[in-house]
Amino acid sequence: RRAPEIEGSLNVRLAGVKLLHSGKVRDVYLDGEDLILVASDRISIYDVVLPTPIPDKGEVLTRLSLWWFEQLTDIVPNHVLSATDVPAEFAGRAIRCRRLDVVQVECIARGYLTGLGLKEYQRDGAVSGVTLPPGLVEADRLDEPIFTPTTKEAVGVHDEFITFADVQEQVGADLAEELRDLTLRIYARGRDVAAERGIIVADTKLEFGRTPDGTLILADEVLTPDSSRFWPLDQWTPGRVQYSFDKQSVRDWSLTAGWDKTAPGPEVPSDVVERTRARYIEVYERLTGTSF
Ligand code: ATP
Ligand code: MG
Repeated sequence: RRAPEIEGSLNVRLAGVKLLHSGKVRDVYLDGEDLILVASDRISIYDVVLPTPIPDKGEVLTRLSLWWFEQLTDIVPNHVLSATDVPAEFAGRAIRCRRLDVVQVECIARGYLTGLGLKEYQRDGAVSGVTLPPGLVEADRLDEPIFTPTTKEAVGVHDEFITFADVQEQVGADLAEELRDLTLRIYARGRDVAAERGIIVADTKLEFGRTPDGTLILADEVLTPDSSRFWPLDQWTPGRVQYSFDKQSVRDWSLTAGWDKTAPGPEVPSDVVERTRARYIEVYERLTGTSF
């Protein structure tokens, strides 16, 4: 238990901050007009949050997102207000953001075919209505990156692919065009920067919001291992499932632990935690070229 005086100051500092939403990995607080996005050290594999945290993961992802927002300012403005003006207990892992009217479309760009995109292709020969050439296999690179938006569903409901025409209908033709264009430009920038550092960005998910005057702004997190698939370039082999840069040690271990991929997840042993932590830090350091 905390000493009473610390408990008291905690309450004071948290006064006015209200938990709005708790995702698998992040928590969203409302502070007056602003949002505070807090990245925890929780990790999820196969959509299940494991009981064991990965130390520093929240801070790594927060700092990586901040770094990318900065790299992208020539393409798109972002929602960041401050990385330091946050409640002390979240220091390092939180971002104060402008609260926006979030566009209810998950803006996904894919440069490689895997995951649900691959499944959709195998069924329809197309993803989000974008027809792809026949014969593509797991982890193949696409000739051109494609925009494969999905609906943005409540927690627990799976997002569904929608076509560009659906997006046009939902948000209007101009905004739809702008979302696709920005998503593909941001992906291309991320892909090129990462490629120089030996990392493939297979795909990425973005969220955009609008200010009251209608300006489109990049929100949420950007080009983190939680919103993107990062693969080691030197091990890329189409035709099989690729190693994920960040979560592979936990996934591999979980399969040897006889876990059936349903909740609750197993406790992760400390050597696997340490390896995973090192991978997150490595992604950060390789991408940003700075030490964590
Ligand atoms: P999951 O764990 O599957 O990602 P989730 O998406 O519900 O679930 P989070 O990603 O942790 O959980 O939630 C972040 C929420 O904050 C999202 O709903 C996102 O749309 C919202 N959000 C992000 N940036 C802003 C912003 N600037 N203004 C308003 N809402 C925002
Ligand atoms: Mg989310």
